[in-house]
Amino acid sequence: MNGILFLKPVFKERIWGGTNLKRLFGYSVESDRIGECWGISGHDNGSSVVMNGSYEGMKLAEVYQLDRALFAHVKSEEFPILTKILDANQDLSVQVHPSDSTARKERGEAGKTECWYVIDAKEDARIIEGHTALTSADFKDMVEREAWDDLFIERRVKKGDFIYIPAGTVHAIGKGIVVLETQQSSDTTFRLYDYDRKDHNGKKRDLHIEDAIRVTTVPYHPHVTIPRVTTDDQNTLTNLIRTPYFTVEHWRIQGTHSLLHTSFKLMSVLSGKGTINGFEIKKGDHFIITTETKAIEVEGDLEIIVSYP
Ligand code: ZN
Repeated sequence: MNGILFLKPVFKERIWGGTNLKRLFGYSVESDRIGECWGISGHDNGSSVVMNGSYEGMKLAEVYQLDRALFAHVKSEEFPILTKILDANQDLSVQVHPSDSTARKERGEAGKTECWYVIDAKEDARIIEGHTALTSADFKDMVEREAWDDLFIERRVKKGDFIYIPAGTVHAIGKGIVVLETQQSSDTTFRLYDYDRKDHNGKKRDLHIEDAIRVTTVPYHPHVTIPRVTTDDQNTLTNLIRTPYFTVEHWRIQGTHSLLHTSFKLMSVLSGKGTINGFEIKKGDHFIITTETKAIEVEGDLEIIVSYP
């Protein structure tokens, strides 16, 4: 009955958003400034809603509290993982997130380690990942002098890239990039720099310089992730990363893929269409395979991001 929870996403307007989520996934959204689709969310700031089964119409946050067995009784007080699709039509602010221990102590919520799978990127698309300061004093000094070009490390990205951003890493998604983000369920962001831009009311968004300085890891160490790829004659399954908070996989299905299943898995369809255990699925769909499902059979021509604790 609740073997698969299909979810209705929550959309968020952002100063940097655009129309790519409509274009790429066919979502029916009015605004031309949609920055974020919270595809699988149990966060209070925007919980997705269950669309089928006995919990139809309920928020995922509520279902998680009511029926922890569906989620293998994992330790987290709140649904632990948040899956978003972001459309960076303009540059996102340069920001940093606190670690789990800091955020729990100060805000009573999870820290934010995140990672991005690049769905689409313009030719010269860039991200900021890390900084050049070697000591905390240098970092503070460069921030105070606004020596952004010297401080931030930029690099190019292309479709299919995967980027891991542990808490404490200075980062920004540049314009012309669409990513699927898998993150801890947290909404705490400290903005370091926002390009001095103003919103439609002529106001700049808040910066959080002191907090950002406090939680940034100095010096920065690049995080190289090594994907582990398994192929058969039809499918390519890639383990992108395993962290203390989540594991993320990319499944390229061109036929049938069957596996036994325990615990729970979050899935977001990036492209194509097909079926999962007989249910039709297509690009833009988000759902959770719960513990009520013991075996999974995916069929079709599909690209899926899968995550689990
Ligand atoms: Zn972030």
